[in-house]
Amino acid sequence: MSVDTTTAQEALTFADLGLSPKVLSAVTDAGYTTPTPIQAGSIPHAIQGKDVLGIAQTGTGKTAAFVLPMITRLEKGRARARMPRTLILEPTRELAAQVEENFIKYGKNHRLNISLLIGGVSFDEQEKKLERGADVLIATPGRMLDHFERGKLLLTGVEILVIDEADRMLDMGFIPDIERICKLIPFTRQTLFFSATMPPEITKLTEQFLHAPVRVEVSRAASTSINITQRLVKSGSKPWDKRETLRNLIRAEGDSLKNAIIFCNRKIEVSDLFKSLQKHEFDVGALHGDMDQRARMMMLDNFRSGRLKLLVASDVAARGLDIPDVSHVFNFDVPIHAEDYVHRIGRTGRAGRSGKSFTIVTRGDTKHLDAIEKLTGQNIEWHDGDLSTLAPATEEDDAPRRGRGAPKRAGRKGDGERKRDHKRERKEEVVEAKPAEVQEAPAEVTDIAEERRTRKDAIKSDNASRGTRSGNTGNQSRRDDRRHNRSNDDLNDGTVGFGDDMPAFMKIAVKV
Ligand code: AMP
Repeated sequence: MSVDTTTAQEALTFADLGLSPKVLSAVTDAGYTTPTPIQAGSIPHAIQGKDVLGIAQTGTGKTAAFVLPMITRLEKGRARARMPRTLILEPTRELAAQVEENFIKYGKNHRLNISLLIGGVSFDEQEKKLERGADVLIATPGRMLDHFERGKLLLTGVEILVIDEADRMLDMGFIPDIERICKLIPFTRQTLFFSATMPPEITKLTEQFLHAPVRVEVSRAASTSINITQRLVKSGSKPWDKRETLRNLIRAEGDSLKNAIIFCNRKIEVSDLFKSLQKHEFDVGALHGDMDQRARMMMLDNFRSGRLKLLVASDVAARGLDIPDVSHVFNFDVPIHAEDYVHRIGRTGRAGRSGKSFTIVTRGDTKHLDAIEKLTGQNIEWHDGDLSTLAPATEEDDAPRRGRGAPKRAGRKGDGERKRDHKRERKEEVVEAKPAEVQEAPAEVTDIAEERRTRKDAIKSDNASRGTRSGNTGNQSRRDDRRHNRSNDDLNDGTVGFGDDMPAFMKIAVKV
């Protein structure tokens, strides 16, 4: 693969990138004046029809980096029935919906036919749209192949193929599907390929399917924003210890905590923590891959609008979601992938605001913590002082069933007392597991993709030296894809932009 690299020229404006007047006008209306490095680096080449390999994560403006040149190029030519002109592959329905919103926003001066092929919507409805001819087809890989296999979709007219979030596709087991799709699309197509990281499997894929790409690498957010105050917090390793630590942290932050995302490594923890926080009467919602689409969108809406203060989430569920203005991020678990730490805490301190992140650390977390500090090149400070002195757990905290009126007890608890509290909470956990008590809770672990990732992580750490990464069959991926439900009504969830108030990390210069 021959690779041409590019550097961003600092003071570029959108008008310097070669975009059409109609696209430029839509960008101005969206309130953006200065392209981000990934946009400045990719757009001029993409407009010329070159393949682009963009190494950039969500939050860098990478969606517009492919949407804007695509719309410019689509101004010439027309779509034919069942033969989409462009295809964008996304790992999740949310990301697919966000890309659709971007096409609507930037394509407001065009009459683009946009089709979204994602699980949960009836095939008939989607087929009708395909029949009309799609300028833009946005799809998750499994659903797209299902349509292809039903003979309702011809890929021979695809001029531009976008593969977005390729490393996430790898994590979710979609690579065999991607390989298959790439082979179904004419060789003469233009390919725009985006990934936050470049593990060997992804490099192999780019070598196989990209033709002399221009490589644009935005300094990965290995550095964390200076607006974020980061702290590590020691905790016992039992789940109930960690939950108590978290509750104390939240309470200690008082009014400075406007809203927070609490990240867990696994979906089962999302579910458990959500239920526990609910029992302790926190204003909390949860987000994970197995929730019904409508519930997810509602949850996000409530969080964005301030009706919910806390949101417990897994990495997979929160990935790529544009949730601005979060005051706090809590890592209930130290993330297994160091990069996830950067993604997670990047949810706060956005758009020039300040933010705080707290990571709960147990004795077993040293290895993952070391990896984070190595990646970010900084030693994260420990929270000074004993948290229980800062915000002593009260009787009310540990006996949620007593209600808010229960008298508070001042001072710190003795060890024996704390052990009794833990026992009590363990008992509560059993009660919490009863179906009658969890009507509002998200479903238990069934998200195969997420589970698979966790399993893979375990296997990976055991077999690190062997470097094995288990793949998944296309059929399995499609099953995953189909498991998600979505209706068209769910797509009203607007993407929120920063306007001119671009966060500092989006301005990081492009590496050569
Ligand atoms: P993305 O990386 O595509 O998920 O974009 C992250 C956020 O940045 C979205 O809210 C975009 O609307 C916003 N954005 C995209 N381009 C720009 C820009 N040039 N200036 C400021 N914000 C932008």
